[in-house]
Amino acid sequence: PTFASAGLSEPLQRACAAAGYAHPTAIQIQAIPIVLQGRDLLALAPTGSGKTAAYALPLVERLLGAPPRGWRRVRVLVLVPTRELAAQVGDVFRRLGASASLALKVAVVYGGGSVNPQMLLLRGGADVLVATPGRLLDLLARNAVRLDALETLVLDEADRMLDLGFAAERERVLAALPARRQNLLFSATFPPQVKELADGILREPVRLEA
Ligand code: AMP
Repeated sequence: PTFASAGLSEPLQRACAAAGYAHPTAIQIQAIPIVLQGRDLLALAPTGSGKTAAYALPLVERLLGAPPRGWRRVRVLVLVPTRELAAQVGDVFRRLGASASLALKVAVVYGGGSVNPQMLLLRGGADVLVATPGRLLDLLARNAVRLDALETLVLDEADRMLDLGFAAERERVLAALPARRQNLLFSATFPPQVKELADGILREPVRLEA
């Protein structure tokens, strides 16, 4: 299997080569066609499996040549448990967008720092917003971001997010999203709380294991 046979276009194949990805990993081979189809996905995939590119590659593909974002609007939202992961995921989207010659606007927001620069960053909207849940709620409360045009929600490292208390924030985040959207959930483990989260968010998901 190749990135081409998984369904990626030539610009994305070039982005893979530029990132040093010679062949797709097991989770990428399985996940890329599902994400391209717009289906919901439940993927059991640990760090190191290539899980980030497994969703970033097909999502960047879908953003290629699509209509522009509007004022404060976000098209892809990736929720992550920590600022370190937020920065890493943001870097992957930026690199892939740059090598695919796509003027992708990627915004990364997390708690700890000042909220004002993040509000300015989001003024013109973002193709991809990578966020920790607490800071996202803060920005929503300030009307700094609009999620009503969201196309895809990604929950990355969902098991770690629950460890950090995401359950309490979940309903408020979900209430800000349009009902019709694609949902992708990635988790290294699958305890009952993650199953409950998946059951509440995913619609007829394809289930994959790395
Ligand atoms: P992740 O599982 O997303 O944390 O990725 C683990 C590491 O694998 C990262 O350093 C990626 O850059 C790298 N990686 C992802 N996909 C591939 C691939 N197809 N070939 C080689 N390395 C990859």
